[in-house]
Amino acid sequence: PSWLLLALLGLLSGYAARRFLSQRNSLTAELRRAVDADEFVPFYQPVVLGESGALAGAEVLVRWMHPIEGIIPPNQFIPLAESTGLIVKMTYQLMDRVQEELLGQLPNLPEPFHVGFNISAAHCTSMELLDRCRAFLEPFPPGSVILFLELTEREAIPATPMTDALFKQLDGMGVQVALDDFGTGNSSLEYLQRFTVNALKIDQSFVAKAGTETLSSHILDIIADLASRLELFVVAEGVENAMQREYLQKLGVEYMQGYLFGRPVPFAEFAATHLPPAAGGAGDGAPV
Ligand code: C2E
Ligand code: MG
Ligand code: MG
Ligand code: MG
Repeated sequence: PSWLLLALLGLLSGYAARRFLSQRNSLTAELRRAVDADEFVPFYQPVVLGESGALAGAEVLVRWMHPIEGIIPPNQFIPLAESTGLIVKMTYQLMDRVQEELLGQLPNLPEPFHVGFNISAAHCTSMELLDRCRAFLEPFPPGSVILFLELTEREAIPATPMTDALFKQLDGMGVQVALDDFGTGNSSLEYLQRFTVNALKIDQSFVAKAGTETLSSHILDIIADLASRLELFVVAEGVENAMQREYLQKLGVEYMQGYLFGRPVPFAEFAATHLPPAAGGAGDGAPV
């Protein structure tokens, strides 16, 4: 009978929660160790122009290269990294590594190259974020790289004079702000008023049903309309097939991201797949 199944499920999930809670301390220690051991590695997923499919840049998506467990996806450790504050150091390590990797391929990057980092509430409680962004951009020739900070609503970013000043100064430096998973949170529209937002990233749950389900299609239409009225551009994430792409193209979505264009991969693979061959290599001199 179904009540028995429900009771069993309840017992099991209670068990899983207790097990996780009892592991929380050791998981936190493990996370701390991994930050010091530099086990968090940036993967790059291409972001392309909606119109032409040409490469516009990449979103940096962290992976935990665990010596025993192998590759651990972010959903399994980001929430704990955020609640323990370890996310701050982790992200700044990622930024250093990404800077180094991009500098190594600077002549081959399309200009401007968009690079997006996922930012947590913990980053927004100190002006360090501003210094880190400045240091990130510093070695790149002006205009060659555009830095995007992707904010989600999983955790609320407090509205304080400090955060106001922080985002104002980031804006002044040309750092762009994108609202991630737009449409899934409950304060998206309030964020639009608080920060100088430059882009909306449409959540993949809407993109998945683009053109096939009326409700999702209406939501996409409304987000595109809102963006154009507010003079923001739109990035659609989770584009997996040509039908979704065509629907979004008709809406005039400027940027797209998804398995149709490429999965998140380590930098070497990203460069080999999405960037032109290094200058001076075998492909040198070929017509562009
Ligand atoms: P997100 O920022 O919304 O990133 C998009 C997620 O969708 C990524 O999952 C990406 O791999 C996945 N994705 C992209 N294209 C497709 C597609 O066509 N189909 C499907 N089914 N999925 C697609 P991932 O890498 O597992 O990251 C999950 C989330 O973890 C991210 O969602 C982001 O919120 C968080 N995250 C990842 N890296 C970081 C980080 O360095 N810092 C913070 N704070 N959060 C991060
Ligand atoms: Mg993101
Ligand atoms: Mg997203
Ligand atoms: Mg998402």
